[in-house]
Amino acid sequence: MAVEQYLHLSSGHKMPILGLGTWMAKEEETIAAVNEALAMGYRHIDTAPVYLNEQAIGGVLKEWISSGKIKRSELFITTKLPAPGGNNHELVELTLRKSLQDLQLDYIDLYLIHTPFTVVLADDNGGDMKRNADGSVVIDGSTDHIGIWKEMEGLVEKGLAKSIGISNFNIKQIERLRKHCKIQPAVLQIEYHVYLQQPDLIEYCRSANIAITAYSPLGSKGVANLDKMAGVKRDLPDLFDIPVVKEIAKKYNKSAAQILLRWIVDKGISVIPKSTNSKRMHENKDIFDFKLNQQEIEQLNKLDANIRVVDFGFFKGINKHPEFPF
Ligand code: NAP
Repeated sequence: MAVEQYLHLSSGHKMPILGLGTWMAKEEETIAAVNEALAMGYRHIDTAPVYLNEQAIGGVLKEWISSGKIKRSELFITTKLPAPGGNNHELVELTLRKSLQDLQLDYIDLYLIHTPFTVVLADDNGGDMKRNADGSVVIDGSTDHIGIWKEMEGLVEKGLAKSIGISNFNIKQIERLRKHCKIQPAVLQIEYHVYLQQPDLIEYCRSANIAITAYSPLGSKGVANLDKMAGVKRDLPDLFDIPVVKEIAKKYNKSAAQILLRWIVDKGISVIPKSTNSKRMHENKDIFDFKLNQQEIEQLNKLDANIRVVDFGFFKGINKHPEFPF
């Protein structure tokens, strides 16, 4: 019943090609969704401290593992060094230990540096950021990727993380890390979908044996909420409404979402669609009983338009960060 397709990572571990994203879900929804996802065969769960749901997920994992319904070794759990305030090499181990405590786990399967950039947190922060008078975030340009990575390597050596990787890094940033690392990054997690295909970055990662995880593979609706809260006005594309996607979906009697996901996994890229809806979680998992033909794959390849949905514009002024663009 479990989704059995894996990517083999340079760390020697394997990552299920399909996982469940958990960003922007309320606590109760998360608990129900993770329970249901495990029951329907999802084994890979993606979280992060900034999603504020590690405790909720941890409660569910604990219940499944302690009741013997699942073995820890069957699960693949990813969490991240928190963005954008936690990119500090002195805090890496402490931060992962807090995530492990919340997730009620002894180790994490994959620990990612969430973003290549850092901003300054407010003194009295409840996680909020310090801001300039114009509302822009106060940038911390001293982000030390190499120092952080060395600490990440220490986590593997201590058995706290099975694999380590990065998220939202560009080629230059990955290249710099790789020149200085003992342990190569196993995974890069990036926004990836038909409208944002990033061919140079994908090619680079393939040549460096870095597996890719596609986030926001359905175009993410969560960003609209963040943009709204930050006062950012922009039109976001609707990937479900692309005529060629709808046409192919009709042919296979599948949904647009299933076509978008199948196209990604066929490239050997893992996907972590977020859903808290039972029907849609089932749908997102049922993508292995049909195959797109070459012509359809090419039609979808041609949709690339360099449209980035998660552009971090909700952090006003982030484009001034020395590590920009990410
Ligand atoms: P996404 O998975 O592309 O889209 C999620 C949205 O699509 C939700 O509104 C969901 O609503 C809806 N949806 C899911 N399945 C559907 C289906 N079959 N048909 C129609 N609608 C469907 O966006 P995302 O949450 O931004 O990305 C996925 C995960 O990637 C996140 O949850 C997070 O774990 C990770 N992520 C990582 C980063 C990073 O910086 N590393 C950034 C963004 C996201 P319902 O829940 O109502 O179904």
